[in-house]
Amino acid sequence: MQTVLIIGAGASGMAAAITAAGDGGNRVILLEKQSRPGKKLLATGNGCCNLTNADLSIENYFGSEKEFAIPALTRFGLESTLDFFRSLGLLTREEGGGRIYPYSMQASSVLDVLRFALERPNIELHCGAAAVSIEKKGSGFSVATDKGPFFADRLIVAAGGAAAPRLGGTADGYKLLQTMGHSRTALYPSLVQVKTENAYPRALKGIKTDAKVTLFSGKAAVCVSAGEVLFTEYGLSGPAVFELSRFVSTGKDLSVSLDLMPEYAEDEVAGLLLENRKSAGSLACENFLAGVLNKRLGQMLIKYSEIALSAPAASLKDAEIQRLACSIKNFKLPVTGTTGFENAQVTAGGIRTSEFRSDTLESRLCPNLFAAGEVLDVDGRCGGYNLQWAWSSGRLAGKLGGL
Ligand SMILES: Cc1cc2nc3c(=O)[nH]c(=O)nc-3n(C[C@H](O)[C@H](O)[C@H](O)COP(=O)(O)OP(=O)(O)OC[C@H]3O[C@@H](n4cnc5c(N)ncnc54)[C@H](O)[C@@H]3O)c2cc1C
Repeated sequence: MQTVLIIGAGASGMAAAITAAGDGGNRVILLEKQSRPGKKLLATGNGCCNLTNADLSIENYFGSEKEFAIPALTRFGLESTLDFFRSLGLLTREEGGGRIYPYSMQASSVLDVLRFALERPNIELHCGAAAVSIEKKGSGFSVATDKGPFFADRLIVAAGGAAAPRLGGTADGYKLLQTMGHSRTALYPSLVQVKTENAYPRALKGIKTDAKVTLFSGKAAVCVSAGEVLFTEYGLSGPAVFELSRFVSTGKDLSVSLDLMPEYAEDEVAGLLLENRKSAGSLACENFLAGVLNKRLGQMLIKYSEIALSAPAASLKDAEIQRLACSIKNFKLPVTGTTGFENAQVTAGGIRTSEFRSDTLESRLCPNLFAAGEVLDVDGRCGGYNLQWAWSSGRLAGKLGGL
């Protein structure tokens, strides 16, 4: 019987532990720094846990060499993931955009079934046990923790990334792997709120709207997304903005453009507004967009288009209507940054994947050492992709190079 030690009882570490424990063939020691396993998992998907997605194509992933993720995502793909959770007793449901959630819509259901599966005689879970260093001992490892040393034949580092420190995000995993000869790429916060010049967003704080969002570097479009946008004190939030955030930390001269009526072309918007002008009667401009967009958003767009709110809408000039249509389709805000790792859902970048075998997740530099999850340079879009990478890579690492 071999002893397998796993550092980190988050999504990937728990999946790895259950897999490595198998039918009793290995003794598994699972170390968790926090007082309980899976703390971050409880916060995922706004407490609902978007655990995977019906479309797992590799285009939804990023990293210096994102193809690295393909073997794990193929071997432990959607069906396999749903079967894995079904075998643990979890029912799931698919919502919009292929997003898959527990049927209960409670992240605690996902954590509970994983926790129950860890309650096996050959798995020892040690909470409040932070791994502080790793030393090679023959073909195995000695891991020092604040609860004393642990010895193992095989080691899986599943300590996650630097995002969301309040939920356990830490740089520990990178540092521990670096002491074993590994290196990492630069790290950036991803799936995070974007800070913009905030006069307009602050005035619109709390308003949610659907939009097409384009991130520009100078005049070049860097990335486009669509979906919900939330205006905040400091700028923009919401899934459509999260999608772009990965590119904010590395880009220069950035601005974001919101298309607030993405279903219509600009001349169609202008046409609709020209029609509305005919029936405007004694309406003031501040109410001109009341039947079209969120009221405060409409008023702000009138101001943004340099039209007086008190002016009579019926006397709007054609050029002003065109300007307003252009503002609705291209509401531009200069970008000043992101709200950082503190608020990010994931870390872009990580331990260099070229130093690991993609078919086993074993280190090319140190035999019997494996890594899984966010600690590696793989990250995904918003929509269940990051947890899917955690499940797939955790289960692959948990196979310890076996079939
Ligand atoms: C608010 C929020 C919402 C999210 N929502 C979604 C979502 O709906 N869908 C989705 O796909 N993804 C979501 N994510 C991302 C997803 O949660 C992560 O990508 C995923 O949890 C990564 O899994 P992991 O196992 O690599 O790391 P983690 O889940 O972070 O687990 C790592 C574990 O290792 C422990 N650890 C760290 N250092 C040590 C050490 N030295 N010794 C012992 N233990 C250690 C940590 O305490 C932690 O428990 C969300 C993230 C956040 C923050």
